[in-house]
Amino acid sequence: MKPIPFNKPFLAGQELHYIQQAVAQGKLSGNGEFTQLCQRFFQQRYGIPKALLTTSATTALEMAALLLDLHPGDEVIMPSFTFTSTANAFVLRGARIVFADSYLDNPNLDISQLASLITPRTKAIVPVHYAGVACNMAPLLALAEEHGIWVIEDAAQAIEGYYLEKPLGAIGHLAAFSFHETKNVIAGEGGLLAINDERFAERAEILWEKGTNRAAFFRGEAARYQWIDIGSSFLPSELTAAYLWAQLEQITAIREQRLQQWNRYATALQSLAEAGHCALPAIPVYATHNGHIFYLICRDTNERQALIQHLAEHQILAVFHYQTLHNSPFYHNLHDGRQLPHARRFAECLLRLPLYFELSETDQQRVIAAVNSFYKA
Ligand SMILES: *Cc1c(COP(=O)(O)O)cnc(C)c1O
Repeated sequence: MKPIPFNKPFLAGQELHYIQQAVAQGKLSGNGEFTQLCQRFFQQRYGIPKALLTTSATTALEMAALLLDLHPGDEVIMPSFTFTSTANAFVLRGARIVFADSYLDNPNLDISQLASLITPRTKAIVPVHYAGVACNMAPLLALAEEHGIWVIEDAAQAIEGYYLEKPLGAIGHLAAFSFHETKNVIAGEGGLLAINDERFAERAEILWEKGTNRAAFFRGEAARYQWIDIGSSFLPSELTAAYLWAQLEQITAIREQRLQQWNRYATALQSLAEAGHCALPAIPVYATHNGHIFYLICRDTNERQALIQHLAEHQILAVFHYQTLHNSPFYHNLHDGRQLPHARRFAECLLRLPLYFELSETDQQRVIAAVNSFYKA
């Protein structure tokens, strides 16, 4: 029996051709033609005023934290059920993280708690669109506006997802996308900072280019190329951008393929949910998702472990996801002690099934049969 991996990096079309083209053009460092193509794609397709390609979503989030000019003691609200980078980017600037719980039936930040977490020191809220499923953005934005708080979307998983009519990543003041090989659109490692509030545009480009006005200089907008501000090397090489461009060209096919696979799981496993064996993802009415993750919620962590084991015996790799950050080894002493029971349940009971562009229908049927045989036993 052939093993079914959890994820598999893929070629969508012209990746190798474009990399060859970048080599032939003799331009491999960052901010060349392929970088421009990728950035324009985000600007045009999603109406993002300014997009900067980065080496990862992690560095895009780090740029966002730098742009906010955070000071030690400033508070940033985010869900506890998320990746470490969501928090680390702000911790690196000395911020205190105020972790919020998830909804009962959806891992995203529970908006009903948000008002009670806001203090005069709150500088930003970081909604994470888990599995490419939109957070409840209208009430979140309304609260943020009322209190003068920045909104930074962690849209790492959210390309081609929508909140009502708005593309995810085009809603907050800033947003971060990821092209890590586990995401829908990949470049090995890669990311993008969306600058939706034009007040950040000029400085973002300077931080991105190691604190210099290099980008403006090459556009002929500055007489000299100088050190202007703090910064770092946040931009990827043209090799990364060339790979990414080939993926972006196929974005509609990628989304449709993943949604078809996602829907196949949802339909086939519906009866298990109806019988009360496990829960399936709940998609809120305001969200149009992108098929990024298909998961089950097991009844408890032991049952999840047994299901992982059962699938492994069928040569299928299924994996759990985040451990909550509020009680992590790094942060538990800094957390304010609130229990976050819904986040904890997702940490303990959520199981992701294999889902990747090249997953065949036959292999998917094998996964479905194996999950069913676990609950029948
Ligand atoms: C993948 C991911 C990140 C980090 O992305 P990188 O590009 O690997 O740095 C951050 N946040 C979330 C929610 C993610 O899923």
